[in-house]
Amino acid sequence: MALLITSECINCDVCEPECPNQAISMGEEFYVIDPERCTECVGHFGEPQCVQVCPVECIPLNPDHVESPEQLMAKYERLQKTALPRLVVG
Ligand code: SF4
Ligand code: SF4
Repeated sequence: MALLITSECINCDVCEPECPNQAISMGEEFYVIDPERCTECVGHFGEPQCVQVCPVECIPLNPDHVESPEQLMAKYERLQKTALPRLVVG
């Protein structure tokens, strides 16, 4: 299941840089999660990193995007294949 950000969000900006999949961005009024990119952090971390850092606990599961651990891992692998190559610094 992807996660979603509710209107309780106070736009504190701390979750966005923590997301390993670049799934979080600023929406019209508050931050939003792209369900096509959110793997619940499967493949990267044992716990959803955005939930760990959010000070107001406004990131529940998205009931419109129910996915099994296997589907989340498949999404992770798909994202890895389409990821832009990282710059190798010196
Ligand atoms: S659970 Fe992980 S992948 Fe999903 S939005 Fe949060 S930090 Fe990003
Ligand atoms: S950490 Fe929570 S309150 Fe802060 S921007 Fe992200 S969702 Fe909003």
